[in-house]
Amino acid sequence: MTEYEAVIGLEIHAELMTASKMFCGCRVVDSVTAPPNTATCPVCLGMPGMLPVINKRAVELAIRVGLALNCTIQRHNIFARKNYFYPDLPKSYQISQYELPLALDGHLDIELASGETKRIDIRRVHLEEDTGKLTHLDKDSQFPQGGTLVDYNRSGVPLLEIVSEPNIRSGEEARAYAVKIRQILRYLEVNSGDMEKGVFRVEPNISLRPAGTETFGTRTELKNLNSFRALADGTAYELVRQAEILDAGGQVVQETRGWNESKRLTFSQRSKEEAEDYRYFPEPDLPPLEITDEWVESVKLTLPELPDTKRARYMADFELSAYDASVLVEERAVANWFEHTLAVSDVDPAPSPKSIANWMINDLFRLMNEHKQGVADIKFEPAAFVQLIGLVENNTVNNNTAKDVLTEMYQSGRPAAEIIQAKGLAQISDETAIFEIISQVIRENPDTVAAYLSGKDKLRGWFVGQVMKATKGKANPEIVNRRLAEQLDQLK
Ligand code: ADP
Ligand code: MG
Ligand code: ZN
Repeated sequence: MTEYEAVIGLEIHAELMTASKMFCGCRVVDSVTAPPNTATCPVCLGMPGMLPVINKRAVELAIRVGLALNCTIQRHNIFARKNYFYPDLPKSYQISQYELPLALDGHLDIELASGETKRIDIRRVHLEEDTGKLTHLDKDSQFPQGGTLVDYNRSGVPLLEIVSEPNIRSGEEARAYAVKIRQILRYLEVNSGDMEKGVFRVEPNISLRPAGTETFGTRTELKNLNSFRALADGTAYELVRQAEILDAGGQVVQETRGWNESKRLTFSQRSKEEAEDYRYFPEPDLPPLEITDEWVESVKLTLPELPDTKRARYMADFELSAYDASVLVEERAVANWFEHTLAVSDVDPAPSPKSIANWMINDLFRLMNEHKQGVADIKFEPAAFVQLIGLVENNTVNNNTAKDVLTEMYQSGRPAAEIIQAKGLAQISDETAIFEIISQVIRENPDTVAAYLSGKDKLRGWFVGQVMKATKGKANPEIVNRRLAEQLDQLK
């Protein structure tokens, strides 16, 4: 049997978070919650004779993305008409970019599960407009005779298309690349990444070639994937399907296919159209879009620190592991929250960034997951979090108690010191008091003491547990361990 190599290139469509649409003044509204056809005008409804005007903010956001993806920003841009008819496209053409896209020749480094980094080349990033939204009715809908509803609120929303070179080699790589593009767009605050709402859509082009050969095989394109899971699974399915066809001596048909999530298979949607089918030509209603060096430079200044740079900085400056650093930079809001904790100055001694990171990742994230919440939902400030960690580090409370205090803080938003005082949770660090409690545990458990003295060293932990129980978990564990060793040794 022939061994094949996968050849995959991704097309990603991302709506830009502008206030108004790409070529008219209509508001950009939430396509799920806004009443249908309430944000439209003659321009985005495709009425004859209407003139488009380029949205400057959309161009700016597109430049941001181009720069973040290491592209060259083209100074001379042309919008083009891509002609085709579909009910979600009232003009019968989409204004897009063809020969002169906004950004070219970028790249993005992705991390694979093996720990390796791989560079994926980006062919182009261009601006276009989104189409309307079609809803196909079934018998259970309000119109039992069936049909299709169309909502033009989305028609003309600024849309970015990001096209990779076909140097992706597996479903895993495709997923890692798409996840990272989404992360960067969210960092840049150009796209919410909300895949369920369709504002971020991924389409893989997939083909196989015999391993070791150069020529590309015939590709299929998967449409309408609405999750990263679907991207990885649909791609994996398609690779197996194509291998079976080729093994049987058949030929892959170039076509657009869909992914059926419940049946877990891809199915043919339509044969693939070629560029010539679209009869692209320069949009006569728009002047060329000239982008000056000054404009590019000024946009460069607005770029935030991107996740890779941030992660490297966290590792170098705070001695965080690669894993911890990745978790903290995954979302910009989380990284910001972490960075706010580092600016807290009224806790003495100040907990180390590493200690704060541990508390965030192990304890705060656990609570957030349990409540299915994000950092925006946390009821206390980063400073209050640092105060709690400070109370652990100056021995006011022990670790386990602090976890309970954090749970309480998470629910009520009250400061740690207040909770500790109200519940009498302060740690017992009084050596005499601990000595007394240990003595009592020893007196009350002569059999266990005898077993311990006869060599069952593991019983030490049991004694620690008894002392903790007697103090409701408040005893300072360091003192308990030290004292217990002394007092038991004396009995030998
Ligand atoms: P179109 O716009 O007609 O879909 P493009 O040439 O712009 O075609 O390519 C779209 C995507 O398909 C790009 O990401 C590209 O890398 C990828 N691609 C091109 N040829 C192949 C192939 N033979 N196998 C897999 N992917 C491919
Ligand atoms: Mg395509
Ligand atoms: Zn409009």
